[in-house]
Amino acid sequence: MCESTIKNNYENVLQRVKDACVRSNREVNDVTLIAVSKTKPVEMLQEVYDCGCRDFGENKVQEIMDKYEQLPSDIRWHMIGHLQTNKVKYIVDKVYMIHSVDSVKLAKEISKEARKKGVVVKILLEVNVAKEESKFGIMSETVNDFYKEVVDLPGLEVCGLMTIAPYVEDAELNRQHFVKLNQLMIDIAQEKTDNISVGELSMGMTGDYEVAIEEGATFVRVGTGIFGERNYNV
Ligand SMILES: *Cc1c(COP(=O)(O)O)cnc(C)c1O
Repeated sequence: MCESTIKNNYENVLQRVKDACVRSNREVNDVTLIAVSKTKPVEMLQEVYDCGCRDFGENKVQEIMDKYEQLPSDIRWHMIGHLQTNKVKYIVDKVYMIHSVDSVKLAKEISKEARKKGVVVKILLEVNVAKEESKFGIMSETVNDFYKEVVDLPGLEVCGLMTIAPYVEDAELNRQHFVKLNQLMIDIAQEKTDNISVGELSMGMTGDYEVAIEEGATFVRVGTGIFGERNYNV
């Protein structure tokens, strides 16, 4: 029963995710829709939760901590925003996955705090594929070395790559970046010697998630398309 606008939006995005999977001969279960709920009140998250969503994305440590307390414990929290090393300790045992690991220093801190708490944290390496100056993330050329430096750290599991593509009106313009991230993932997988699986690709937002799925995304991060525009001035 999904009558509200938010519920309708969620159902609509979910259907489009499924359609994109079918179009590109992919299993629907291989793509996880993350509802990006930053700035939104817990009541709204609860509505989406009631439609069956269990994956929520946030970009602020404090917001994850607050919402974590108030919402059901079977939610998988995805940290998708820039993470400062001194705040790792607050969320390391609360998040399902950290998508935004962009330095060896940060990876080491996650490793350290995860071991203290006796958990293993899934992480993705954030790559600035479009080389935008305003964005965090490592450069494509350094992904392989970066991967090698962090892959054996205890307390974390390197699951794949993430990127934030540029804001564009025409989603097709971002296809090249999604292709690139997919290729970088293939390169890593080929160099690997162990048999631990690595292959998650977190890419695609409201404007371009269908194109991202066509190019191999396993996580799409959709905020505005589900919750509506964000107001940062409240
Ligand atoms: C805010 C945000 C999103 C969601 O963006 P929308 O365009 O609202 O779908 C996705 N990924 C990251 C990293 C974000 O910060």
